Amino acid sequence: LGRIQHLLAAVPALRTPLLEEVDRFARLVSMAVGVLAVAALAVGILGHGIPLGEMFLIAVAMAVAAIPEGLPAILSITLAVGVRRMAGRRAIIRRLPAVDTLGAVDVICSDKTGTLTCNEMMIADLVLPDGRAVVVEGEGYAPMGRMTVDGAAPDAPTQARIQALARCGLLCSDARLDHRDGAWMPVGDAIEAALVSLALKTGLTTDTEHKDLPRADAIPFESEHRFMATLHRDHRGGAVVYLKGAPEVVLARCHDVDPTWTARVDQLGGRGRRVLGLAAKRLDTLPGELTFADVATGFDLLGLVGAIDPPRSEARAAIAECHAAGIRVAMITGDHAITARAIAADLGLRADRALTGSDLDSLDAAALHREVSTCEVFARVSPEHKLRIVEAFQSDGRTIAMTGDGVNDAPALKRAHIGVAMGRKGTEVAKEAADMVLTDDDFSSIVAAVREGRTVYENLRKSILFIMPTSVGEALVLLAALIVGIATPLTPVQILWVNLVTAVTLALALAFEPGERDLMRRPPRSSRSRLLDRHFLWRIGVVSALMCAGTFAVFLVEQGRGSDLATARTAAVNMLVAFETIYLFNTRSVHGPALGANRPPPNPWAWASVAAIATLQALYTYLPLSQAWFGTAPIDVVAWTTILGLSVLLFLIVEAEKAFTRRHRRSAP
Ligand code: ADP
Ligand code: MG
Repeated sequence: LGRIQHLLAAVPALRTPLLEEVDRFARLVSMAVGVLAVAALAVGILGHGIPLGEMFLIAVAMAVAAIPEGLPAILSITLAVGVRRMAGRRAIIRRLPAVDTLGAVDVICSDKTGTLTCNEMMIADLVLPDGRAVVVEGEGYAPMGRMTVDGAAPDAPTQARIQALARCGLLCSDARLDHRDGAWMPVGDAIEAALVSLALKTGLTTDTEHKDLPRADAIPFESEHRFMATLHRDHRGGAVVYLKGAPEVVLARCHDVDPTWTARVDQLGGRGRRVLGLAAKRLDTLPGELTFADVATGFDLLGLVGAIDPPRSEARAAIAECHAAGIRVAMITGDHAITARAIAADLGLRADRALTGSDLDSLDAAALHREVSTCEVFARVSPEHKLRIVEAFQSDGRTIAMTGDGVNDAPALKRAHIGVAMGRKGTEVAKEAADMVLTDDDFSSIVAAVREGRTVYENLRKSILFIMPTSVGEALVLLAALIVGIATPLTPVQILWVNLVTAVTLALALAFEPGERDLMRRPPRSSRSRLLDRHFLWRIGVVSALMCAGTFAVFLVEQGRGSDLATARTAAVNMLVAFETIYLFNTRSVHGPALGANRPPPNPWAWASVAAIATLQALYTYLPLSQAWFGTAPIDVVAWTTILGLSVLLFLIVEAEKAFTRRHRRSAP
């Protein structure tokens, strides 16, 4: 634990891309606002001879206009909505920024057993010490099923060997089977429960066996040494040591094993079986405790067992989805390379080769870095190798998600951009170190979370794309009024109304935007890509200019029709809000069309927010109380018609711009 704690402390927590982007964006906005305010100050004082005090207030109003006050709230809400959606997909986020990092994942490294496979094991094959193969029938953990050797029932000596093997499996395990409501439920480790079921199939009974050979001590299973051993007192004053574990570990401790055993192990592994070796040794006296030295040599081999652990059917589809989305999936397992490759092939992973833990030990960081670009199966690795694998992927600038459940997985979970812990079989330490916990331990939940992560990132960008033009547009209106030298079309409190009330109400709909249809057919965004690319800034610029022009025009036209200042200002604010409302529908898809067959999937929240805005603006315009607060006045049908017409025009212009860039992009190389 001390060593793990030390490793943990040495791993720095990474900053997430989104946090850095938002920082950069905030700096950009503050700088732009600063420049704008100073420019306004200069224009006012030098150009129009407005006194400093009065001009200072106008500059402040401009800053209030340009700063999107509602944006921080919207960003947090969007993240929170993402977290809730992910929880609905059985992925619990422990650190909020992980939501957005998930959307950038390039590589998912997943455990095999229990995450890519069902972890519902059944022992289907036995190999006895004489090399004879036994086929075991049955369904799940139910202790019913025939055993056959070459299609026939085993003879008595063979039956005895089968029982000896099964007895070792039963006594050298901590699992049991519960029979509840007609179903057999494993309690404890899956493969150990499968061994208990096997023992019951051979006619052994748990109680009798435990009474005959009571356990005196044990060395529990650990991924590092890959075996478990138990010490039992026999009734003649002697003892039996049972050993079960990875076949190469067990075979190395037995005498009289020839190389054909390796071939038998490979043969079972090639069929995707999870293989264990079982062995026993007699001692004349009962030692006080079981040490590693006691289990180093001198065992008699009892045989091999091969368990089926079927791949999860959802995992296959989820892996295909990852591949379509440009995400690589790597399998990381403590299991045998051949077993791992057989299951990897079944799942649709690249299984032409596997790197093993000992391969990793012989590779330096640079060589490992080269290897990970083509290898997708890592077998017989111990948790400490995981940290090296994570770092090898990261040295390419890739964003990586890594799963883990054991205490020793914690450093790798912390180091990965997204550490994923298993909610069911995971340890508390692993959950502590993780960014996300899967409540069902299922690989496809990771992929669902990635999908939500991408949606969240898109929605954050859409919120910015949506809110910025309103703010910039308002600031431009004030600037234009200043340059022309007329009364400001918007008062500071009206600006706050637009920025804080209407913009937030509308942008809220974007937080609930479902993912676009092709979301998982796009490559992951690169870590160099910006929240605001050039096209984004261009769109914000164009829409800001249009909103400014429209609002200013409505203000002037209204005054030209003989209305007073309050009425003209009310018309201007309604124009601005109408622009916002219709622009919301432009923004629901950044590049795709808002109408037609390829329109974004429906979002009822968008319509709810339109209804809310219509109500709010009616109250804003006609309610005496708000007329007193905001200095508004009723406007007539002509004004409303102009406002509607101009907003539809804005909608069409933005859609035309999108269509133009789509065509332009497609023709680009
Ligand atoms: P993974 O969970 O990635 O498949 P583990 O580290 O749990 O890998 O297991 C590694 C190997 O150790 C397995 O392939 C198996 O041979 C052996 N093994 C697994 N569980 C047990 C156990 N309970 N007792 C003995 N050996 C085990
Ligand atoms: Mg395991």
